[in-house]
Amino acid sequence: MQRLKHSPLNYVGRFAPSPTGPLHAGSLRAAMASYLDARAHHGRWLLRIEDLDTARAVPDAAHHIIQTLAAFGMDADGDIVWQSQRKNSYQQAFDQLADVSYPCSCSRREIADSRIGLASDGAAIYPGTCRNGMAAGRSPHAWRLRVPEAGHAEGEICFKDRWQGLFTEQLATAVGDFVLKRGDGFWAYQLAVVVDDAIQGVTDVVRGADLLGSTARQIYLQHKLGLPTPRYLHVPVVANAAGEKLSKQTGASALDLNKPLTALLEAAQGLGLALDGVNSVPDFWRKAIPLWAQRFAEPDVNHP
Ligand code: GLU
Repeated sequence: MQRLKHSPLNYVGRFAPSPTGPLHAGSLRAAMASYLDARAHHGRWLLRIEDLDTARAVPDAAHHIIQTLAAFGMDADGDIVWQSQRKNSYQQAFDQLADVSYPCSCSRREIADSRIGLASDGAAIYPGTCRNGMAAGRSPHAWRLRVPEAGHAEGEICFKDRWQGLFTEQLATAVGDFVLKRGDGFWAYQLAVVVDDAIQGVTDVVRGADLLGSTARQIYLQHKLGLPTPRYLHVPVVANAAGEKLSKQTGASALDLNKPLTALLEAAQGLGLALDGVNSVPDFWRKAIPLWAQRFAEPDVNHP
């Protein structure tokens, strides 16, 4: 196997599914890429269940995900982390951001009505209405992080994605002040993911390109919290026949636990790995890991 530059002792990767349904071909591609990258670097691969949003969680989905990963030969290192049990850490990080965050009373409708535009994740860009305080008599719908004014270098986030290449985002114009905590007490994904990646010592985030647009916010939060920035690799998302990102909403079906090899080979093909004569799940990984290693032997070079 080709030697990789990144020190194997340092490498920590992770897969961080939200338990909103069983794994499907789209989430398998993300899981596979993160697992391959960790194993190709002789690193650790952690599993974190992002179960903060109880309204979106589906009973037993986490269990099903864990079972599927095991059936597909992806064994996590160490204990599984559940975000629902880590709320104290999010509170601590939130407290650390007290000087740069503020309560906001705007409803979703009010923000949409301001028509500033849509962020890359489809949410309306926040117009900054409550930056200087909420209107009298209103109560918070959310707590937001104040991002630097447009044109300020601190708010222009630039990073090199190992698959997608160079990416630059001006936070003020792309998303505006973003949510850290919702009025109903739920911690925002952006805050929780940054805190957990740092606490778990994650060096390499490998996930679907649907999260590319969240990365600049996460890097900015890392700067604000004094945390290291991991390297990023965002794999293209799987689309359905209509060209939409595959998800439960767009008709993704659950992976068949009885046919792991078929699904693994399909996911590998989607990642551009050409595998021949694979006859079992262990054989799949034996062959796929060196192929991935060859492609990512120079981790800082884009476009494998
Ligand atoms: N929990 C997120 C999801 O399932 C992924 C988080 C991440 O990989 O950063 O979409």
